[in-house]
Amino acid sequence: MERGRSLRKLVDPHGRHIHKLRLGLLDACNFRCVYCMPQNPKFMEKSKLLKREEIFRLTRALVGFGIDEIRLTGGEPTLRHDFLDIVNDLSTLEFSKFGFTTNGLHLEKHLPELRKTKINNINFSLDSLNKFGFQKMTGSPHLEKVLESIFMAKELGFKVKLNAVLMKGVNDREVNDFMDFSARYDIEVRFLELMRIGEARESFDKYFISAGEVINRLEKESVLKQVKRPIDSTSFNYELENGAQVGFIASESRPFCGGCSRLRLSPEGSLRPCLMKSEGFSLVDKCEDEILELLYKTMALKPTDRIYDVSEPMNQIGG
Ligand code: SAM
Ligand code: SF4
Repeated sequence: MERGRSLRKLVDPHGRHIHKLRLGLLDACNFRCVYCMPQNPKFMEKSKLLKREEIFRLTRALVGFGIDEIRLTGGEPTLRHDFLDIVNDLSTLEFSKFGFTTNGLHLEKHLPELRKTKINNINFSLDSLNKFGFQKMTGSPHLEKVLESIFMAKELGFKVKLNAVLMKGVNDREVNDFMDFSARYDIEVRFLELMRIGEARESFDKYFISAGEVINRLEKESVLKQVKRPIDSTSFNYELENGAQVGFIASESRPFCGGCSRLRLSPEGSLRPCLMKSEGFSLVDKCEDEILELLYKTMALKPTDRIYDVSEPMNQIGG
């Protein structure tokens, strides 16, 4: 192991224990989800992305300072040619929870290798269970391949969750299908409220559907039993009578900013306090003392209330 688990506890000026890191590996993606990706995205020059060695160095420092949960994201993190190397590098560090968020396409081939690493949690984005709806929302015809990855990940023993962004009139009629899927395959499905961010801002009013509305619909079909969650959880969860596990990430109607425990490292190495805040500090080439100083500066910028909207696309920040 590179170093022992940190004994440091990072606490921000509002008393929040900051211990989670979202690590954006790149902004590029092979999907074009309507709520996330601009029509004609211009991706960062590869030379601007953090190099594998720098990702390791910065993450090692942040873990040493008290980060104990890491989730890789992007863009589509699995598109980095050195994705497995990065995972292997980070697996040598000592922290408690390691996962990534993916659209699942082309993941199958990596899964057996990933099983040998520290990765334990995989969150798949899956916005529709039918081919037509899936293509409409993601621009990809490959629903089957994504499903194969999900089933294989489950079979290999990863902790799998599905994330579906619900859009009124687009996929909200599939809520019950998702619940049947959850019960049948014993996989938690989390419904994400559409957020006013990047691409989604213009069409937000047309497509937004609140978690409350979805819960009301579900309650017509089943009793919902509340499931206990950690204090800094972004989701609130229920179990249905058929065994389905459902979570809601209600960033718009029930923001969780007051209890937020996360920082973000963007693909080009900027440490950011919040998904909705474009300020941040570049950690590139900084020594450990400087990183620690910037860490505290970043924590001091963390908002306690929800910021209304942000123009920067989700894939660039690292959603
Ligand atoms: N490509 C990976 C994926 O789709 O899982 C990781 C990056 S993606 C930006 C991370 C998450 O952000 C996905 O679950 C996606 O659905 C969510 N997301 C993107 N734009 C969103 C928006 N406007 N509102 C709500 N969730 C959004
Ligand atoms: Fe790509 Fe994920 Fe954005 Fe969809 S949500 S376009 S899969 S980065």
